Amino acid sequence: MADKLRAFVCGHPVAHSRSPLIHGNWLKEHGIEGSYEPRDVAPGDFEAFIGGLAGGLYAGGNVTIPHKESAFRLVDRHDAAAEAIGAVNTLWIEDGRLYGGNTDAYGFAANLDASAPGWDREKTATVLGAGGAARAVVHALKSRNMGEIRIVNRTLARAQELAAGDGRISAHPWEALPELLADTTLLVNTTSLGMKGGGELSIDLDPLPSAAVVTDIVYVPLRTPLLAAAARRGLKTVDGLGMLLHQAVPGFERWFGVRPEVTPRLREIVVADLGAGA
Ligand code: NAP
Repeated sequence: MADKLRAFVCGHPVAHSRSPLIHGNWLKEHGIEGSYEPRDVAPGDFEAFIGGLAGGLYAGGNVTIPHKESAFRLVDRHDAAAEAIGAVNTLWIEDGRLYGGNTDAYGFAANLDASAPGWDREKTATVLGAGGAARAVVHALKSRNMGEIRIVNRTLARAQELAAGDGRISAHPWEALPELLADTTLLVNTTSLGMKGGGELSIDLDPLPSAAVVTDIVYVPLRTPLLAAAARRGLKTVDGLGMLLHQAVPGFERWFGVRPEVTPRLREIVVADLGAGA
């Protein structure tokens, strides 16, 4: 009998991760004799964990907070998205080497493709935040030929660093938002504000054009205060759970050889689980 295919998600902590639920459902749906397991790996143990992967038990796995940047430094090869973003969330073994990819940008774009088709080419995006997730979002926006990308961040220097070297991208302080919103077609929150237990994101959405799309990558709660305010204004909204579901697709395909689908049923299962944990 062939060895069972095994994959993992490693983080610290990792118990909150919904990735085992997502991949476990796909394994069941496709009748694959495989496993996807959470591995809590403390920062001090991460290098040894990575070092044991090639030639070890696993076909690959996911990397989550706080290891995405360390994984970038420790793998043998990167895919183009990881190279552009500077972080790795998906690992796999190829020809005996450990590869690191990044599927967060893919997940972000695929979520909008599914829920707000036409959101991309030559439009104007305003991105709130300039942390790790913003790097993936900005990479996705650049790859989809956004006409203009504005990054707004509390710490302006981080926004400037992310905007550097690309004429389509500019950096702005929070106070510039009302003016920027007036011709924004896509507003993205990538800050941790609005997250359960986090600070409040309160911005006035009145200046946004009525055709604007508003998306939040925070998905706990699913309907963040930003999305609720946008919906009250009658704007199209897209929540952040789809990004999490879609970013999982390429990894599953690499490890288990089947490209899975993000279905309404899968979404319902994860929403129910998020509700249970709330
Ligand atoms: P991060 O690297 O720590 O960045 C946090 C960002 O939030 C920074 O821009 C930071 O601004 C800003 N921020 C934090 N507190 C703030 C405050 N009080 N006022 C104004 N700005 C504040 O975090 P991350 O990895 O980018 O993750 C951000 C969020 O995205 C998290 O909620 C995470 O769960 C979510 N996420 C979702 C997905 C998904 O699949 N849907 C994927 C990845 C991440 P400064 O630079 O000024 O500190």
